[in-house]
Amino acid sequence: MTFEALQQADKQNVLQTYSRFPVAIDWGEGATLYDVEGKKYIDFTSGIGVNSIGYGNAKWAEAITTQAMKLGHISNLFYSEPYIKLAETLCQRSGMTSAFFANSGAESNEGVIKLARKYSFDKYGKGRGTILTLNQSFHGRTITTLAATGQDVFHNYFFPFTDGFRTTPTNDMEGISAVAGHDVCGVLLELVQGEGGVLPVDKDFVHSLAVLCAERDWLLLIDEVQTGVGRTGSLFAFQQYGILPDAVSFAKGIAGGLPFGGFLVNERCKNVLGPGTHATTFGGNPVCASAALAVLDILDETALSAVQEKGTYLREQIEAMGSPLLGTPRGLGMMIGIPVKERNNRELAARLVQRGLLCLTAGKDALRFLPPLTITKQEMDDGLSILRQVLSDLEEPGK
Ligand SMILES: *Cc1c(COP(=O)(O)O)cnc(C)c1O
Repeated sequence: MTFEALQQADKQNVLQTYSRFPVAIDWGEGATLYDVEGKKYIDFTSGIGVNSIGYGNAKWAEAITTQAMKLGHISNLFYSEPYIKLAETLCQRSGMTSAFFANSGAESNEGVIKLARKYSFDKYGKGRGTILTLNQSFHGRTITTLAATGQDVFHNYFFPFTDGFRTTPTNDMEGISAVAGHDVCGVLLELVQGEGGVLPVDKDFVHSLAVLCAERDWLLLIDEVQTGVGRTGSLFAFQQYGILPDAVSFAKGIAGGLPFGGFLVNERCKNVLGPGTHATTFGGNPVCASAALAVLDILDETALSAVQEKGTYLREQIEAMGSPLLGTPRGLGMMIGIPVKERNNRELAARLVQRGLLCLTAGKDALRFLPPLTITKQEMDDGLSILRQVLSDLEEPGK
């Protein structure tokens, strides 16, 4: 089908909840994609942080097909090898103690919210169910995770939202103390706020917060749905922050493109959610777990240190462009945000896409780059030269 035919059929048959770029992607290889008309694109989006190992990875595809032929699904009424091996690998590589598997970021966050409330209920009874979240955070699109999200634009239309969330200023311990009542059971935060604008949270603040959580017996819940699975150059971002969370959620990049997620808990929390307290039909699906095992195998220590280097390279190259339309790039590893000046960030992203560089926006004013972690130097350079070209066209007067 042509792009126009696809667009028309989408309009007729699909809820119009997304404002899509006018491109229909057909296939890809590495970090390079082709649309239905054969036009080539460099991908700096990874399907919003999902395609961590790029497109057409043979090892990943083989893990999926082999498992699909063997056993596609079985439910959590039975044991199966892939999710068990995956839990073991994740615990070994993160220092956490046990895993729960889910299907999306929002669902994984719902799990850690339930964990904190149950932990507190078991010890202190009712009335201690409030979770603190940060300004500019994003935790998902369910009614509860929208309530947890610390951006007012998300608190609309769908009333009533779930009670028991309080937003506090980011990087501000006094702000936290001011709203921290006796009803609090945990704090949920991203270490680099992704959707909010690619805003790294201060290390000192995170350390102080961890101390406060220990003092008050609050759970420290880290949302690594976007930062996890190598995106920031370590398996989880918390490993660069020198903390051990009580729970950490993940999703996006974990299975390299299949819908999968979950959370890990530490020793203190391993018995909080017992039989019957939490479940999901597809959780730990064998095909998704096998895909995740392949992803983790590919993202070994060498690949993770390459993520650091590539991220640094991209940030340095962008800064060296010296464009008056861009501020200083920020972020961690290959999670990069660039403030856009004088122009609208969405408008700039649309121009880049049109010229062959797929990219994202974040917050009110930033461009966001989340390239596949396995992107090559050549692909990065091709993407950067499209960026350079689009910027220099815009800088010319009269454009
Ligand atoms: C994307 C994202 C979510 C939501 O994940 P879904 O899979 O869309 O439910 C939650 N938290 C963070 C930090 C995210 O980036």
